[in-house]
Amino acid sequence: MTAIVPVPFFAISIEERSGQPIRRCYQCMKCSGGCPMAFAMDILPHQVVRLVQLGARARLIAARTPWVCTGCKTCQARCPNGIDISKVNDALKAAATAARVTPGDRYVAAFHSSFLSSVRGLGRSYELGMIGLYKMRSGTYTADLALGLAMLRKGKLKLLPKRIHHLREVDRLFRRAAGADDARGAGAAGGGRGGAAAGGTGGDADGDMGGAGSCGAGDGGGAMGEGGLD
Ligand code: SF4
Ligand code: SF4
Repeated sequence: MTAIVPVPFFAISIEERSGQPIRRCYQCMKCSGGCPMAFAMDILPHQVVRLVQLGARARLIAARTPWVCTGCKTCQARCPNGIDISKVNDALKAAATAARVTPGDRYVAAFHSSFLSSVRGLGRSYELGMIGLYKMRSGTYTADLALGLAMLRKGKLKLLPKRIHHLREVDRLFRRAAGADDARGAGAAGGGRGGAAAGGTGGDADGDMGGAGSCGAGDGGGAMGEGGLD
């Protein structure tokens, strides 16, 4: 008799959000062998994929790896299954943000949020404002001060921001992206509960998504739904 191995809800949600065929990975490690950022990662790319397969949500959303991935796509070029791990990492960053956990790399996370704040407020990046936000969010007030002053002296940093004319359209883009996230989270939650009920279990490797039986009963679904994706 063929054994049916249930797929953890977290694996399904990350697979849907990233659009990557995570279940096809057979751990050949070619991705990690070519990743130029492997030296800075706490979990190597092939391990990220394996942990997603296992549903190790808590370990993954606290990891540094998704934040230091540069999106160079070397992993996808080398993968015999065409898996783009940068998209998996993007999905993990979104899951970490939704769950409000301390980012695995707070400096990169602070930079991301400062850049997006600038684009949302002005429709473009305003470097000086972005730097101010980044300094406040990262707590690195005096780092690179001399460099910043030199750039100001040379006119590389504009003192005043400029706003684009059609800012509402940018706002609409942000809202649409947030709405797509919500819809994806809701869709994944429905699929996840169904899958868990059919498989009879849905607990992950960390055991943080409710007990195996409770997922089918709805408890795990509620816990997973709190972050939209998770
Ligand atoms: S290269 Fe592809 S199949 Fe091989 S371990 Fe990495 S993700 Fe998995
Ligand atoms: S996209 Fe990210 S995970 Fe893939 S090789 Fe580049 S840095 Fe590594």
